[in-house]
This record gives sequence, C-alpha cells and structure tokens, in this order.
Amino acid sequence: MFNSLSDSLDSAFKNLRGQGKISEKNISDALREVRLALLEADVDFTVAKKFIANVKEQALGEKVMKSVKPSELIVKIFHDELTALLGGDNEPLDLTPPARIMMVGLNGAGKTTTSAKLAARLKKEGRRPLLVACDLYRPAAIDQLATLAKQIDVPVYTPDASETDLVKVAKDSLKWAEGQNGTLMIFDTAGRQEIDEKLIGELKELHNFLAPKETLLVADAATGQQAVSVANHFDEAVGITGIVLTKLDGDARGGAALSMRTITGKPIKYAGEGEKIEDFTEFHPERMAGRILDMGDVVSMVEHVADKIDEKEAMKAAERMQSGKFDFNDFLSQMKMIRSLGPLDGLLNMLPGMKKLKKQLPSDALNTDKMKHMEAIVLSMTPKERERPEIIKGTRRKRIAMGSGTSVLEVNRLLKQFGEMRKMMRSKGKMKQMMKQMGGME
Ligand code: GDP
Repeated sequence: MFNSLSDSLDSAFKNLRGQGKISEKNISDALREVRLALLEADVDFTVAKKFIANVKEQALGEKVMKSVKPSELIVKIFHDELTALLGGDNEPLDLTPPARIMMVGLNGAGKTTTSAKLAARLKKEGRRPLLVACDLYRPAAIDQLATLAKQIDVPVYTPDASETDLVKVAKDSLKWAEGQNGTLMIFDTAGRQEIDEKLIGELKELHNFLAPKETLLVADAATGQQAVSVANHFDEAVGITGIVLTKLDGDARGGAALSMRTITGKPIKYAGEGEKIEDFTEFHPERMAGRILDMGDVVSMVEHVADKIDEKEAMKAAERMQSGKFDFNDFLSQMKMIRSLGPLDGLLNMLPGMKKLKKQLPSDALNTDKMKHMEAIVLSMTPKERERPEIIKGTRRKRIAMGSGTSVLEVNRLLKQFGEMRKMMRSKGKMKQMMKQMGGME
C-alpha cells in the first residue's frame, strides 16, 4: 500500500534537494509530479487538485528559514496536508449505552471479519462486546461469524437458518443480550455484490429499529474510487458514522484512503491490515501520513508489539532510534522481538526509511534464517563492540565470523547494513526534531 505514491513523493522531494530556496517554478515542477502520482494512486481528481493547491499555497507562503532546506520544508507541509486530508485526528467510537454498532458494506469488503476484529479489540480494551449475525442470505456468513466469535471468546447470537424477518432477529438478539452481561453489541449485516433497493430497504428497517450510535461502513481499500462512491451510497441510505478501510495491507494504490474523508465527510475510524484478527488498528491520520512519507510510524509499531514486549523498553528503543544512539544491543533485542512477531514486512514498513532501505537489501535479507545468522553474529561480539560497532575492524571481524559460525563476508555485510540503517535513522530523527521545532514556531 502506498509504495508507488511514496516513491513518487520521494523523487519529487529529491528534485527539490539542492535547490537553494523554494520558488514558484521549482515548487510547480515538483507538484506536477506529485499530482500525477496522486491520480495514479486513484485519488479523486478534485481532491488531488485541492491538495496540490493547498500545498503550493503553504509552500510559497512560508517564511524563508535559513536553517531549513526547501526539501525539508516541503516534507513538513506534505505531512501536515496529508494528515488533514486523512481526517486530522482519530475519531473514537461513541460507546455510550445502549452501545450498538451496525456494520454495513458490500459482500467481500470484510464485514464479518471486521466485526470480529472490532469485537476482539474492544474486548482487549476491557469492554464486553456481543456479536449478532444478521446476514439472513448467506448461512455461511453466520457460521463464519460464529467460528470467529468462538476463536476470540465473545458471545454470539445466531438466528435460525430458516429465519427471514430481520427485525425479528434483531428483537430476539436484544432479548438474548439481556442475559449476557455485555456492554456493547456489534451487528454484522448482509451485503450484496452491488447496492440494490432491496438491501437498502432492509438495512433501513434494521437501522430504524436498532437506532445504533455507530453505523460503520466496511470498505475494501483495493477498490479505490469505487469504495468512496459505495460509502456515499450507504451514507445516503442509512447514514453512516464512520468508515473501516480494509485490505490496506494489499497492493492497493491508496486512493480510497486519501479521498474518503474529503468526499464523504465521514471519518475513517479503523484500518484492516491483514486477514488475522489482530491485523486491525485504529486509524490515525498523522501516523498514516508519516508512513506515506516513509518517515516511519514508530508509535504504531510500539503499540503493535506492546503485547509481546515491555512497553517501556520499546519506547526507549524508539527514542534511541530517533536520536541516532541505536547500537547492536538495541539491534539484538529488536531482532528477537521482531522474530517473535510473525510477518516482518508490514512491521518493518513502520520503521523510518525502511521502504527505501529494504530496496537496498538483498531480497532474502528479511528471511528468518538470515536473521538467525545476524543474531549469531551480534551475539559473538563483545559488549564493547556492540556499543561501538565502529571499532570492529579486520581481526575482530574474523573472530566474530568464527565465533558465530558465519563468514567474514556475512559479518561485513551486516556491519554495512547496520551502518546504513543508523544513518537513515539519524536523518529521519533529525527531520522529526526539526518538524517539532517548526511546529512550535507556528
Ligand atoms: P464480508 O462478505 O464483507 O463479510 O467479507 P469477509 O469478512 O468474509 O471477508 C472477505 C475476505 O476478505 C476474507 O477472505 C477475509 O479474510 C478478507 N479480509 C478481510 N479484511 C481483510 C484485510 O484487512 N486484509 C486482507 N488481506 N484481507 C482481508
């Protein structure tokens, strides 16, 4: 997701590097490139145009700061504008009682999976969710929800396969809920391949009966602008309060995420980033903007791993990364942690500069066997060497290779990669610091 957009932005910024100051001409050239990239990412035309106009106005209006290079200034402006485009702040759910969440969307968007993901997440936050299967068209959907509910240990109401009256199902589920000690209910509804009158009629009826505080549209990000028009349709029909964008892990070009807020006026509240229950996060515009600009999303990474590791340790590591103090001891503990976390790719994308760095790595550098080798190499270093890798010269390299059962070649490669990683982190850290300072000047 967002890979080609990130690349295009990077190339536009590169062209601005080396330019003494921002002028109408060089900013226009760079922005032309960005506009194309946005359209290629399937961002709505008017949204792209407005976005470019905003960036340009900001860039030309900025006071010239001697200490800030144009390319850096423009990254900050992009970051702010992207954040605004994605909705500004995260908007939490309204869970005041009686807390009812109705999930709507087309077939295949990820409604059932998302209902379970949301239930699991809210449960983790200490709430007591109940699930209700309201898809009377696809018995398989009812089974699917029941299976997921069991997996996450959340009570679920499933209607009889012969039931055809949706409002009756809803009524029965409310009665069932009285004996369940739940604090909120999530209703998984039926979808269609396309929006049709009958579906909308039924959803309206159910919506009127339940009067849910939250009606969440589940939209497949991979469908680009179509996802946006589907959101509009559902909003007109039943009035949605928010959006869950699914399949952000895929190779979708990102247009849906970027246009959604502006066109529908509704906040994106959550993001689905994989098939597993835990591949689900609150949608934070600022963090997403950081990921698009490849500035990393250390906060999300820390949250993702908080279950598996000590949170304080992780925060410390994140700070060390940003301040450029990262050494092989940090590297070792990060590797151990990362190895215990499953799929590496998505996670590593949250690190600053990782998209770019990954391209420089050999294609198999992220496989687990390689990581074991790397770990063995680091383990063969003395404490001093881990803290100050620059002292690892010829004979030390040989000793480390022997000790770890690897080769000098591998040791050399790791040291080189580590050096590059550190450099990248330092420059991204500087960028963040600078942005903070500039933020303070506004
Ligand atoms: P529904 O018809 O809207 O209820 O859709 P489902 O919940 O059955 O999901 C359809 C397919 O999309 C399933 O194979 C899910 O595993 C998959 N899916 C749902 N959300 C995500 C996501 O965020 N990422 C990925 N990669 N797959 C997803």
